[in-house]
Amino acid sequence: MDLSFADADLAFQQDVRGFIAANVPADIRRAQSLNPSVFSEPDIITGWQKALHEKGWAAPGWPQQYGGPGWSPAQRWIFETECAHAGVPSISPMGVKMVGPVIIGFGSPEQKNYYLPRILSGEDYWCQGYSEPGSGSDLSSLKTRAVRDGDHYVVNGTKIWTTHAHHANRMFALVRTSDEPRQQDGISFILIDMKSPGITIRPILTIGGDHEVNQVFFDDVRVPVTDLVGEEGKGWTYGKYLLEFERGAGIASARLRAALNTVSTLAGSEITGRAVEDPDIALRLSEIEIDIDALEMTELRVLSAMQNGENPGAVSSLLKLRVSEIHQAVTRLGVDVIGHDGLVVEPMRPLHTLNHKPAVADQILPVMPKHLNGRAYTIFGGTSEIQRDIISKLVLGL
Ligand SMILES: Cc1cc2nc3c(=O)[nH]c(=O)nc-3n(C[C@H](O)[C@H](O)[C@H](O)COP(=O)(O)OP(=O)(O)OC[C@H]3O[C@@H](n4cnc5c(N)ncnc54)[C@H](O)[C@@H]3O)c2cc1C
Repeated sequence: MDLSFADADLAFQQDVRGFIAANVPADIRRAQSLNPSVFSEPDIITGWQKALHEKGWAAPGWPQQYGGPGWSPAQRWIFETECAHAGVPSISPMGVKMVGPVIIGFGSPEQKNYYLPRILSGEDYWCQGYSEPGSGSDLSSLKTRAVRDGDHYVVNGTKIWTTHAHHANRMFALVRTSDEPRQQDGISFILIDMKSPGITIRPILTIGGDHEVNQVFFDDVRVPVTDLVGEEGKGWTYGKYLLEFERGAGIASARLRAALNTVSTLAGSEITGRAVEDPDIALRLSEIEIDIDALEMTELRVLSAMQNGENPGAVSSLLKLRVSEIHQAVTRLGVDVIGHDGLVVEPMRPLHTLNHKPAVADQILPVMPKHLNGRAYTIFGGTSEIQRDIISKLVLGL
């Protein structure tokens, strides 16, 4: 692999830097630096998404005919790396990275014409309705039922751990449309208007004090049959296809490296009494940096393959596993670097809208919340045990 950049790539890098400088003001960067989660609150990302959309850069992974920018893997790497190092908020992956590829791959022409532009512009904000109480790892046992009634499905049941359902106006959901001997064969993939009568959203606060996830209840919710994606009963295939994009179709290494740099800077500062002088901290900084280098090489390999029209495949499970583990190693190191300051608990959220002066500096404030929030990395998107299972079967062929 030739890892040196061509002149055109270096020129592109300058373009990206200029674009970020012009479109991401300091207050947004501060808000992002205080964000404990992988998801940014919608108010942080609205302006950035609008700017990306106007520039034609909102969906780096999409084919050009649907609004993708037609970047090479090198350009995608440059873009993600520059965004990560500049502390730019991530736009929600649920639309661009998750349901978008499914609609492109399996949606009707009408669905493509209607939904894809609204994903690019940010007009629609999506949430993912897969998990249910009792159906997480064992997703194919899901019970939320959609019964055909004329031109509609009538949906009853509940989804849980639904990230940002309280912000979303759209949900993509796996629902049971028939009972088949093989559970997977009775599942369909539908698109639900979250403003439909019969939907109730109950907030769930997680260990770090964040309101990100919810339980969503459906009572006789009517969904037009035109919002079924692909064929009835094929939802399991589309749902798994989406998970490949959710788990690995990007450059997570760039944001991990930026997060490690933040911890490294803190460790070298007087605020932490120069924690880096502790040999254990210095060693862990180096070990994590090597892990990120290795991850980055795999991500580039997958990106190159996707450039030729392939989907990520089972290697996405490997990426998801490593990203989760490295993220937790970085946030855990952050907690050890700040020492007792980690005991200062700021219960209000979001941290960038606090209306009082916190007891610790801005650099310290999000460290413990990020660690606590980050415990979920090895659970959401499929647990680490499930990823290991997929890797052993589909990557190693065991
Ligand atoms: C913060 C957060 C956000 C989330 N966001 C969403 C979302 O937006 N939309 C959505 O649909 N879901 C979401 N989820 C749900 C997530 O996908 C599930 O929590 C996850 O798939 C695990 O399912 P479960 O919680 O039912 O745990 P279980 O499946 O009950 O697992 C419990 C434990 O058993 C282990 N286990 C289970 N089966 C096996 C097996 N076969 N072999 C070995 N070990 C096994 C698991 O690894 C885990 O340690 C989110 C979860 C979290 C924590």
